[in-house]
Amino acid sequence: MREYDYLIVGSGLFGAAFAYRAKRAGKRCLVIDKRSHTGGNVYCENIEGINVHKYGAHIFHTSDEEVWNFVNSIVPFNRYTNSPVALAPDGRMYNLPFNMNTFYQMWGVKTPEEARAKIDEQRAGFIEELRRQGVTAPRNLEEQAVSLIGRDIYEKLIKGYTEKQWGRACTELPPFIIRRLPVRFVFDNNYFNDKFQGIPVGGYNRLTDGLLEGVEVKTDTDFFADRKYWESIAEKIVFTGKIDEFYDYRFGKLEYRTVRFETELLDISNYQGNAVVNHTSREVPYTRIIEHKHFEMFGAEVDENPKTVISREYSTEWRDGMEPFYPVNDQRNEALYERYRELAEREKNVIFGGRLAEYKYYDMAPIIGKVLKLSV
Ligand code: FAD
Ligand code: UDP
Repeated sequence: MREYDYLIVGSGLFGAAFAYRAKRAGKRCLVIDKRSHTGGNVYCENIEGINVHKYGAHIFHTSDEEVWNFVNSIVPFNRYTNSPVALAPDGRMYNLPFNMNTFYQMWGVKTPEEARAKIDEQRAGFIEELRRQGVTAPRNLEEQAVSLIGRDIYEKLIKGYTEKQWGRACTELPPFIIRRLPVRFVFDNNYFNDKFQGIPVGGYNRLTDGLLEGVEVKTDTDFFADRKYWESIAEKIVFTGKIDEFYDYRFGKLEYRTVRFETELLDISNYQGNAVVNHTSREVPYTRIIEHKHFEMFGAEVDENPKTVISREYSTEWRDGMEPFYPVNDQRNEALYERYRELAEREKNVIFGGRLAEYKYYDMAPIIGKVLKLSV
């Protein structure tokens, strides 16, 4: 019999939640991670009493009650509600997601009826033109955005931001990227439609530390540095790293987008008055500024800490050595992933899970949901 039932490669949410369940089922688990800390991309670094989301801002949101109850059983979540604002190329600020506040700020319209009429006027000519060309469904992000919300909002709030984020023209991006964004005819700045959202009280490390409590963990340990050994010590492997790396890149490399963060500690208590401010102008090199304290400090608490930490986010193409963040869902990468997935399906003793192993843009809640459904 081997020393462990499971070797879990990666201590991100997938690996940590799997380890939690397996341990409770009486399984012997070892978790390894090549980083110097656990938690994967949700890991936070505490700077001057502020939890800094080191790999990008993370807001937990879900409508799945089982997932919500599960994470809250590990650590309670606070009442943070994501309501980003956008600083547009016209120098004005607009509420997101697109809702009555945005429409009022953009056009001065005060009722849903006026807003609908304005949007219809904005998109009518465009939709007609598409129809004339025989186009029945939007072929790219630009067509999707303009036919959904009209030219003004597309130009001021979508085009520049999206092109910076993805490094490609909106006409070359798939329509579905923008379908995630809600459009509402009510005065409601809540970015998500989900029933539940929040941030773990005390930060995300509480969540991942709670999941990994009592589990044997080795950090600074890369599976590929001694693959033969790691493969020999456990009955099964749960692999949450890059699937193409698992197969030695034999069909070629999958591509990613990544984000470079410029983080600054400032000697003021409140820099921008909100956790998230998107900069939608193409001329501003970063996509957004995160002010981390607003995820966990509300009202008067904000000024109780005289300092603040901000991160400017620069979206860039990924190269070896950088953190792989967003899978690029274009045809080349999808087809390549499919070839790796076929190999993975044939493995009897390896479970592939999470963002990198499934090459999929997963939010946190679906990751937890998936692990809760696995038999361990
Ligand atoms: P990861 O967290 O990436 O964990 C994988 C782990 O495996 C890492 O710790 C890595 O070091 C380790 N590893 C990889 N290869 C090896 C190896 N060879 N040997 C040992 N260890 C290895 N989701 C939301 O719900 N809300 C948000 O607001 C949100 N914002 C996000 C913002 C950004 C910038 C990013 C990148 C993601 C965001 N997400 C958000 C998604 C969220 O981060 C993921 O759903 C979640 O972290 C995925 O967990 P995971 O375990 O699959 O992957
Ligand atoms: N988006 C935009 N303007 C904004 C915010 C988002 O055009 O101010 C677009 C952009 O294309 C982005 C998509 O909407 O990729 C989805 O946004 P979301 O905030 O959900 O993306 P995330 O940051 O979670 O990847």
